[in-house]
Amino acid sequence: MHPYLQVLNLRRDVKPARPHVSYGWTAFVLAVGLWGMGAPVPRPPVAGVDGWTQRTWVVMGTYLTVRVRHADSAYAERILDGVIDLVQDLDRRLTLYDPSSELWALNRQAGGPPLPVSEPLWDLLERALAYSRETQGAFDVTIGPIVQTWGFLEGPRRVPSDEAIARARARVGYTKVELDPSRRTVRLTTPGMVLDFGGIAKGYALDRAVELLQQAGLRDALLNFGGEIYAMGTPDGGDRPWTLAVRHPRRPDRVWREFPVRDMAVSTSGDYERFFFQGGRRYSHILSPWTGRPVETDVVSVTVVAPSATEADALSTALFVMGPERAQALVGADRCRYVLWIRQQGRHLIEDPRSVWPPRPCPSQGSRPSRTPKSNDPSPDIRPQ
Ligand code: ADP
Ligand code: MG
Repeated sequence: MHPYLQVLNLRRDVKPARPHVSYGWTAFVLAVGLWGMGAPVPRPPVAGVDGWTQRTWVVMGTYLTVRVRHADSAYAERILDGVIDLVQDLDRRLTLYDPSSELWALNRQAGGPPLPVSEPLWDLLERALAYSRETQGAFDVTIGPIVQTWGFLEGPRRVPSDEAIARARARVGYTKVELDPSRRTVRLTTPGMVLDFGGIAKGYALDRAVELLQQAGLRDALLNFGGEIYAMGTPDGGDRPWTLAVRHPRRPDRVWREFPVRDMAVSTSGDYERFFFQGGRRYSHILSPWTGRPVETDVVSVTVVAPSATEADALSTALFVMGPERAQALVGADRCRYVLWIRQQGRHLIEDPRSVWPPRPCPSQGSRPSRTPKSNDPSPDIRPQ
């Protein structure tokens, strides 16, 4: 392992006594924070020196760590206050465990008339449905009833009966969501539907946080949200990109591969983070909307690098469902979507040759906003001084 590799989170997700969020728990993904490989005097950026300010919070059931570079640390702290306000606001809206959340109200309305929703929920839902269409339903934000049936939401985790799976599947399907853009209302057409943003919410929150940092005039930052990463700028204000690392799926103390990233997001979905055993079989928390069952695959992990964290998050979940063969059409350097497949082959782990790796800088990168701004976006009350 590179001596300066910083492991930010080794499977440190929060498991509250009473679970209050539904977001996924993958913290496994990456070790981050290297200076460029081969730098003459490699030295990791340290919070408190070199203009770096770092904070970590518990939110959405996991850890969010944001490290930013700015000469004025008081200013940086104010920006970080803005970041956590923003993410906590999303958390309050999207949690599936608080009856006062906006998402709860929308789910309760399933089978009934349309409900007006807030801008962030609308925006996220639009994006989630776009990824559903693109992945032909491999990613499906209406997966909630299946997640519940298997006990991944509130437990206990168990293998449900075929009838229970069939009942859940009847309430799942992204085409059962109707959007009315003129009124910004959402209708869930079938009673018992449950939207679950666990496969995309952390990525979306990261993109909004990155937007805020950009608007505040920051250039260099590293954000890690339970293993979803966004690497902004460079570690030292120079030309070298961040160096991140995919952790070894079976040996958390080892690195599988290092790679450079700049102004891009990284997300990993795998079979090893959140699962249960029953009858000697392993059942993972990524579920196939088509079968209503945990995905059965020899794919151990899929790591996606993409220009936005929303995209990386949704795609890593979708690609895990699809497998390398079907997913080929969705990835490629021309689309700035990179993928690393790690598969089990007998007793060994191998990289699938259909991987598109390592990630390369993308043409419009750096200038491209992580999320298309909309006219009605609330602009954060934070500006460079
Ligand atoms: P993690 O959240 O652990 O990083 P993922 O991003 O792959 O991992 O998201 C997994 C979560 O997404 C599950 O816990 C569940 O809430 C939700 N989910 C599971 N299967 C799907 C699916 N096929 N489409 C959309 N969301 C899914
Ligand atoms: Mg995901």
